[in-house]
Amino acid sequence: MAVIILNHCTGCGACVAICRFNALTLEVERPDGFGQKRAIVDGQKCCDCDECLIACRYRAIIVKNIKSKDSHQDTKSAKKNKALLF
Ligand code: SF4
Ligand code: SF4
Repeated sequence: MAVIILNHCTGCGACVAICRFNALTLEVERPDGFGQKRAIVDGQKCCDCDECLIACRYRAIIVKNIKSKDSHQDTKSAKKNKALLF
């Protein structure tokens, strides 16, 4: 699953534009709507195509293998991780 390294992400949106699975969105950091936008990965939609890695010129995306033998656990892990790294 694609994982965003938040302190590298500039919020440029290139990854969001290229993702065919609508697995990426831009969200503002603060609930009041101000602050830096960052990309967020929906682990349930990400298909590991890696296209966003290529699109990100800031090297703010890595791939983490969070799959396990238990597919239910796999989904739970993907939700829980929601692709945030600092
Ligand atoms: S392409 Fe990279 S820098 Fe731009 S929003 Fe996506 S993760 Fe952030
Ligand atoms: S790896 Fe592919 S499906 Fe997953 S977020 Fe990146 S572009 Fe979208």
